[in-house]
Amino acid sequence: MTLCIDRERCQGCNGHPRCADVCPGNLLVLGEQGQIASREPDDCWDCAACVKVCPRQALSLTLPPEVGGRGSRLWARQVGGKMHWTIVDGQGRTKNFVI
Ligand code: SF4
Ligand code: SF4
Repeated sequence: MTLCIDRERCQGCNGHPRCADVCPGNLLVLGEQGQIASREPDDCWDCAACVKVCPRQALSLTLPPEVGGRGSRLWARQVGGKMHWTIVDGQGRTKNFVI
């Protein structure tokens, strides 16, 4: 799995990045353009903590083919007290589930 950062969506949380606050490895930092970046992508252990707190769905994780299908990615969005997960596979098919 790999963390993907959508630089068009990330607005840096007004200088207080929520994703950086929750990353257990302290891997995420704001770059000069005010957008988040991973300083050590290889050290990410795919916990998805950052994906869950991003208010703009700027973060996603690639999934192994055996989990989500070839080319699939995982997004999250918090609604009320529940987490809404979306998997989009390489052919654009979407699966949604709520936990
Ligand atoms: S939480 Fe989302 S919008 Fe905020 S800095 Fe991180 S990636 Fe950007
Ligand atoms: S997935 Fe977990 S370890 Fe990786 S950057 Fe996000 S919060 Fe940090």
